[in-house]
Amino acid sequence: MKCKHCDKLLKLSQYKQNDTWKSCPNCSRANGQMHVFYRYPDKFGTTAQRSSPSHPEGAQSYCTCCRSDKVADLSQAKTCDQI
Ligand SMILES: [Zn+2]
Ligand SMILES: [Zn+2]
Repeated sequence: MKCKHCDKLLKLSQYKQNDTWKSCPNCSRANGQMHVFYRYPDKFGTTAQRSSPSHPEGAQSYCTCCRSDKVADLSQAKTCDQI
């Protein structure tokens, strides 16, 4: 499924505004229309095990809510067209 705003796959993490916002693939899939973004890294966390050349700090893929099976905190979220 692709984002209606940027035409990229919802399951791919997107970064905006100098990596201060990142999309959560799980929340984006739940939205079904557009990428759902949260503040990065605050709402994701990092781990050295996920370190990569583009993001050496090691971004967690899913937001903290999705990783802990909590209901997504959509009051903190922005959709792709809002950033
Ligand atoms: Zn998008
Ligand atoms: Zn999420």
